[in-house]
Amino acid sequence: MEIPYKIYLSEDEIPRAWYNVRADMKVKPAPLLVPSTLKPATAEDLGHVFCDELVKQELDNDHAFIEIPEDIRNFYKMYRPSPLVRAYCLERALGTPAHIYYKFEGNNTSGSHKLNSAIAQAYYAKKQGLKGVTTETGAGQWGTALSMATAYFGLDCKVYMVKVSYEQKPFRREVMRTYGASVTPSPSDTTNVGRAILAEHPGTTGSLGCAISEAVETAVSNDGYRYVLGSVLNQVLLHQSVIGLETKTALDKYGIKADVIIGCAGGGSNLGGLISPFVGQKLRGEADYQIIAVEPASCPSFTRGKYAYDFCDTGRVCPLAKMYTLGSNFIPSANHAGGLRYHGMSSTLSELYHQGLMEARSVEQTSVFDAAVQFARVEGILPAPESSHAIRVAIDEALKCKETGEAKNIVFGLTGTGYFDLVAYQKYNDHQMSDYIPTDEELQKSLAQLPKVEN
Ligand SMILES: *Cc1c(COP(=O)(O)O)cnc(C)c1O
Repeated sequence: MEIPYKIYLSEDEIPRAWYNVRADMKVKPAPLLVPSTLKPATAEDLGHVFCDELVKQELDNDHAFIEIPEDIRNFYKMYRPSPLVRAYCLERALGTPAHIYYKFEGNNTSGSHKLNSAIAQAYYAKKQGLKGVTTETGAGQWGTALSMATAYFGLDCKVYMVKVSYEQKPFRREVMRTYGASVTPSPSDTTNVGRAILAEHPGTTGSLGCAISEAVETAVSNDGYRYVLGSVLNQVLLHQSVIGLETKTALDKYGIKADVIIGCAGGGSNLGGLISPFVGQKLRGEADYQIIAVEPASCPSFTRGKYAYDFCDTGRVCPLAKMYTLGSNFIPSANHAGGLRYHGMSSTLSELYHQGLMEARSVEQTSVFDAAVQFARVEGILPAPESSHAIRVAIDEALKCKETGEAKNIVFGLTGTGYFDLVAYQKYNDHQMSDYIPTDEELQKSLAQLPKVEN
């Protein structure tokens, strides 16, 4: 059967239920812990911070399928199903016998996959009768996605944006404000934790961990508000399973069996969503796949981090999560421009990695931008730097096939577009981009501050 450039599905083929990979894991991801007692966080503990229905999803290790409410599915219909694209042009440019496919999630105003979870989280907040939600954003994709989702459901949205991004990405900020969100540069003097961080590190340009602390404090100290997070959590991976479910439906339609599945990994949500149905098959012994997580060499949580309980935020207000981590005080070098800067990794993916069900690679940013430009020039789409980590390894794998003559099916997640990352592209085009790999001593410094938890 001739495979088209774009494999589109019909509206009817948008999944009716999310797939929860935890249900098929024999060893479950480690539970979140309450920092003060080191006991597993209960629904009541988490209910102060997160929406009730999302807490239920967070703690649900048993139900494989969770129905997607009609309102969310209708919103999905505006920009989904997303296309699975056969990268014929890239294959030709590389001269590889491999078949390369990418699932493109950038076809919405937020420019990334993050809208898949934002709309679900806003829906449950609305259903609970809340006034609004708070969150942090780094590069701005999550904040944009959430402001779109809260606008749709008529909720208030308070975004703490890492100060360096706030200053470097004024247009991102303006998109969020256009959708009605209020955007505060973090650290700010609007929270106790922000004031404390500013006092200790005057002039700091902020970090994700710090913005999370500010957003959580604002949520718990304002009536009718809860905090929402765009990655890392189990619930976010669950919502992102629409990516993997659609990918699998599209491949199955054409009788294609993926050999290698590749995704970039920041907090792990797009990768977790993409691979979930495939890992499910692996866990049930039905099929095998090579799965590769790709992370920046400057923020290498899987490849050089420790599998341990750690704080999710700098201010240490969130529950502890067991994950591959570089330590909550780790901040990637200032020359790192490619996103994926979170110090930790989804607990679900961490456990899958720990069990050997997936592998991880770290790549340097100049080679990531080499791949981004090569891809853009033949496939047309200007990729987000984050997504380009996956492109890098997809190209590397396709070039290996050229040597061995194998016609492998390589599938990767193209999570978003790079229109708001042109400062990074400018650096690359001006040959001013450099690589920075943290030394063991630097990593030791932040890892030495991991909380002491028996695990
Ligand atoms: C946020 C983001 C990522 C990384 O987040 P994950 O939770 O690891 O998926 C990757 N690509 C794009 C375009 C993003 O916006």
